[in-house]
Amino acid sequence: MVTKETAAYRQTPLEIAFFPCLSDNYGFLIHDPKTGRTTTIDTPDGKEIAQQAKQRGWTLTEIWNTHHHFDHVGGNEALVESLGVEVVGHGLDKKRIPKLTREVHGGDIFKFGAHDVHVITTNGHTLGHIIYYIPSAKAAFVGDTLFVMGCGRLFEGSPAQMYESLSKICALPDDTKLYCAHEYTLSNGRFAVTVEPENTDLKAYIQEAQALRERNHPTIPTTPAREKAINPFVRAESAERLGEIRAAKDVF
Ligand code: ZN
Ligand code: FE
Repeated sequence: MVTKETAAYRQTPLEIAFFPCLSDNYGFLIHDPKTGRTTTIDTPDGKEIAQQAKQRGWTLTEIWNTHHHFDHVGGNEALVESLGVEVVGHGLDKKRIPKLTREVHGGDIFKFGAHDVHVITTNGHTLGHIIYYIPSAKAAFVGDTLFVMGCGRLFEGSPAQMYESLSKICALPDDTKLYCAHEYTLSNGRFAVTVEPENTDLKAYIQEAQALRERNHPTIPTTPAREKAINPFVRAESAERLGEIRAAKDVF
């Protein structure tokens, strides 16, 4: 039974903020005004993340890591030491994510205040890469799995694993906001047109992205709807084809 009180509780929306970190990463903060909990997705720059939280009057309570690369966990230790925050990450990465305190696995759903957070495994860039999907916010934090017109390099996983991971992300509702961890859009676009020179949606979007970047605006979040129209990795008809495109991008 949904009482008046629980309905109102559910309706308090999460606040999401993002900002550039390091050379081309993004930092993300999610704040639940109801409980005061605030999380950062990954820790590209601990100092910047702490500062961004502080200037909004938010107290960082946790870190949700997507994978173990240094530009995603580099600020973990400093933030744990200074603020005593909890660190959530994939169980498989417990030796690779500094200060991990809470292991999660694909398929887990945990609570952030009244909001459900779905943990989805997206192997490919690394093994044990996870994304965080929050249906109530229509938002997913996709780390280095999907980028605008691109996907993460296959450091640990196979083309088949990345194919499955991109399929999972693009199976989310079409208007889900996909928060990618890097601003790689323009360089991805330069490659994407070599794969799909006839794609008019792709060409139109690249113009849009160029205009945004000229004003130093971010090109994220993207959506499954957009990526299904313009992302050559998402549009690859098979895992094998995705592997070919990825190999071509690696030497582009
Ligand atoms: Zn990475
Ligand atoms: Fe990265």
